[in-house]
Amino acid sequence: MARSKLPRDRLYWQPEIDTDVCIGDRQCVDFCKNEVFEWDEVNSRPIVKQPLNCVLGCTACADICPVQAIRFPSTDGLRIQMRKLRQEIDAGGSHDRETDQ
Ligand code: SF4
Repeated sequence: MARSKLPRDRLYWQPEIDTDVCIGDRQCVDFCKNEVFEWDEVNSRPIVKQPLNCVLGCTACADICPVQAIRFPSTDGLRIQMRKLRQEIDAGGSHDRETDQ
């Protein structure tokens, strides 16, 4: 029997921006094709507009940020979240917005 997908909105995985460290070069906004970021014209800083578009486990925007202003939760923590959610679903939990991972 095929396993059901995990609901993406129950897994916390998204970039967090330290706006004090950010130099406002827009690289993350231009880089991410999933439109996770949006540019805040008022503050000249990126904002995380669509966190659920962020691909689980992807840290590519943090890698390209020249001043290390972007952080992610730990991948070990993500694995624990996924394991717990899988157990919950297998025991009869919900199936909201899903992910292939
Ligand atoms: S890549 Fe880093 S420094 Fe540039 S806008 Fe994004 S968070 Fe700020």
